Amino acid sequence: MDFKILDASAFYAGVPFRMSDDCYTTTLVYDEIKHIKKSHDVLGTLLETNRLKIREPEKISIDKATESAKNTGDYPQLSKQDISIIALCIENHGEIVSDDFAISNVAKNLGLKISPIMTKGIKDVGKWIHYCPGCKTNHPNGVECPICATPLKRKLLKE
Ligand SMILES: [Zn+2]
Repeated sequence: MDFKILDASAFYAGVPFRMSDDCYTTTLVYDEIKHIKKSHDVLGTLLETNRLKIREPEKISIDKATESAKNTGDYPQLSKQDISIIALCIENHGEIVSDDFAISNVAKNLGLKISPIMTKGIKDVGKWIHYCPGCKTNHPNGVECPICATPLKRKLLKE
């Protein structure tokens, strides 16, 4: 079955208003984007005609998405809306439409389908690591080096 799961960036880019596939989003994302004034009527029409469906992902999927995001190191960059989109995709096997780098990275690491809105799609799939520019050590997370207290920087470790 071919349908799209839209995150907030897809709504802001106007994606659901110009495509023919059925769209899904989560309650959290809908609450975030429903204030877009120019698209109020269009959103209403999409909902009435059942082209836009709002679903609540199960807690087990949210836990899985959260765990995976922590694994790749994207978790600090993700809102609960973002996590809910990934969780919905785990459950329903649609295709996420998003330009968000962190969402894309987690989705790809989970083997989910993702398509970009405007960009060409991310080529760099991998894990974020935090490294210390002071003593050149790597750390799975944190803001400050536990060894020399230098602020940590992030870089993407390609697989
Ligand atoms: Zn250090």
